[in-house]
Amino acid sequence: MRDPRYDILFEPMKIGPVTAKNRFYQVPHCNGGGYRDPSAAAAMRGSKAEGGWGVIFTEQCEMHHTSEITPFIELRLWEDKDIPMLRKMSDTMKSNGALAGIQLAYSGVNGPNLYSKEVPLAVSAQPIRTFTNDPVQARALDKQDIKDLRRWFVNAAVRSKDAGFDLICLYGAHGFGIFQHFLSRATNHRTDEYGGSLENRSRFVNEVISDIKDAVGDTMGITLRVSLDETIGDLGFSNAEVREFVEMNKNLPDLWDLAQGTWEDCSGPSRFKEEAAQEQLVKGIHELTDRPIVGVGRFTSPDVMAKMVRTGTLDFIGCARPSIADPFLPKKVEEGRIEDIRECIGCNICITGDMTMSISRCTQNPTFMEEWRKGWHPERMNTKGDSSNVLVVGSGPAGLEAARALSERGYDVAMAEAGTVIGGRVTRERTLPGLSAWGRVVDYREYQISQKPNVETYFDSELDAESILEFGFENVCIATGAKWRRDGVSRQHVVPFPTDAAMPLFTPDDLMDGASPSGHVVIYDDDHYYMGGVMAELLVQKGCKVTLVTPAAYVSEWTLNTLEQHEIHRRLVEMGVTIELNRGVTAIGKDCVETNCTFTDQRRPIECDGVLLVSAKLENNSVYNDLKARQADWADAGIKSVKLIGDAQAPGPIAWATYAGHRYARELDGEDIGDALPFRREITELAVD
Ligand code: ADP
Ligand code: SF4
Repeated sequence: MRDPRYDILFEPMKIGPVTAKNRFYQVPHCNGGGYRDPSAAAAMRGSKAEGGWGVIFTEQCEMHHTSEITPFIELRLWEDKDIPMLRKMSDTMKSNGALAGIQLAYSGVNGPNLYSKEVPLAVSAQPIRTFTNDPVQARALDKQDIKDLRRWFVNAAVRSKDAGFDLICLYGAHGFGIFQHFLSRATNHRTDEYGGSLENRSRFVNEVISDIKDAVGDTMGITLRVSLDETIGDLGFSNAEVREFVEMNKNLPDLWDLAQGTWEDCSGPSRFKEEAAQEQLVKGIHELTDRPIVGVGRFTSPDVMAKMVRTGTLDFIGCARPSIADPFLPKKVEEGRIEDIRECIGCNICITGDMTMSISRCTQNPTFMEEWRKGWHPERMNTKGDSSNVLVVGSGPAGLEAARALSERGYDVAMAEAGTVIGGRVTRERTLPGLSAWGRVVDYREYQISQKPNVETYFDSELDAESILEFGFENVCIATGAKWRRDGVSRQHVVPFPTDAAMPLFTPDDLMDGASPSGHVVIYDDDHYYMGGVMAELLVQKGCKVTLVTPAAYVSEWTLNTLEQHEIHRRLVEMGVTIELNRGVTAIGKDCVETNCTFTDQRRPIECDGVLLVSAKLENNSVYNDLKARQADWADAGIKSVKLIGDAQAPGPIAWATYAGHRYARELDGEDIGDALPFRREITELAVD
């Protein structure tokens, strides 16, 4: 049962007129589905309700059509027609006694209005500030606009109430909400009673909260989300000013929701930010107000959570990513099952769903956003099918997740691993600079499997087709992974290019195996995710001089989607790495690489002592291909199915591998659906003309 140390996390607390049953507070977070996939988003929130969260919020909800952030897909509450979709969400949120919250956002200077084609309205006339530098400017709100905007907030609040919500969060954090734009001198250049002094800059939020309280405050709690420090230089809303603001407006909202800086700051990946990284910024704010406070910090440890509440730093433990990685985190604390918590690894793959406007995934929780689409429950597997055993070949994230999930279903599982340790690429990569938290992918699964009587792991067992046929398992799941290519083939080069055998060439696998290049090493990064930057850090640590050459416009370009690209660039520059952007490599000579400009093809050699190729990966699928070639022998060997999954099928990020493993386990012995779509989706209802 529950450890009494954590009792404090289960004490109810009032937020204005409503009461949260405990201190587990799922702060608003995007999911890449939003208005396009409302049932998927609703079911995802419902899984958190079942998992014991006391407060559950939607992602940001655009509350008026004059401010929207297309192409990003969030929620919308523009007219009464939007209410049923949101009611579906609040219903699932409230299904187990949680409070349902909606985050109302008016994006102002962040909303380019690419869809509504309205002229953006902002606190001051400025170019729109988004990830994409849209060539659009906003005009400044005049006095009538401010009155209108106040009314629109009230309309949205009343609609939120109709939609069944208990809480409204007014968004003024991460640089994204109009409240922050009023509060910050960077975005508020007004000379009227809404600009200048802090009192003036606080006027709008005071007015809106008072209006909303008059309209719905008897039944709904109103929270205000502001950043603890805008972190954009002298003009920004600093931590000192935030404290002054809270002190001045002590009891303004029913709860203070304290986020941090820009979104990149607030959702910093584990490579750059520790758990509870905001502690110093939030400490002491509690004494300035009588209202409860929620704060975030990628909290996964119940001890840290309890400490935050016990020391009076926070009243509620705000979680976005930890609630994605484990929607059942509160329940596991309550039931004394701490070791079953699936801890967030801080990789920010979940955020890429929003940034790529697709639908989110989670490395640790493959069921995220599949609760409705595929009917995948985050804690429960489907019942066992007709066959009884499975041989999983390879213990990387794909094989491990397959083994774990298959054992949950009740299959007897044998997992064969060629090496002497479990975990495949994760076990190797967790030793690289900044990636130690990623090891939780293995730790969680290794522990879960250790608790199961029906999984056996065999080390030093490099299997081939012959031995697999001899074993005679009914089902064979091949998860043998991939290796980095040694020929530089990736995107710039689709076939090998000239290399001089005299030049020492390395791959990330070589470095993970202990190779130690020396002197000046050129990294040729045509992969564009994290590995190139991580390798640069490792080589500097090993004493090398490093030049990173990439055909992309950014170092580790895809990490723009994981909100860490700017940190990677900064760190590499600070470590002395020379960065060559928009340059490829055309040839590797005996003492230099020849580089080319991606636009003009102008050539320039870079002298070096070694080259590290971070290019594509080669699937390790030979065992699978050999088995396929002997399909005629399967029946005699008792084999019913052979499947290739994970990196061995098609290399990708770790999240793709855990998803593949989970999917394999879910679908084993399932009915053949032929050409049918393997997930549910929502199609916009056609309007009646
Ligand atoms: P994924 O990301 O798809 O899980 P990994 O590369 O992380 O792939 O893991 C693959 C694992 O499979 C590695 O630990 C590797 O040692 C193991 N492996 C590869 N080939 C064999 C084989 N023939 N028999 C058993 N294990 C294998
Ligand atoms: Fe955490 Fe990564 Fe899952 Fe996001 S995707 S919740 S950062 S483990």
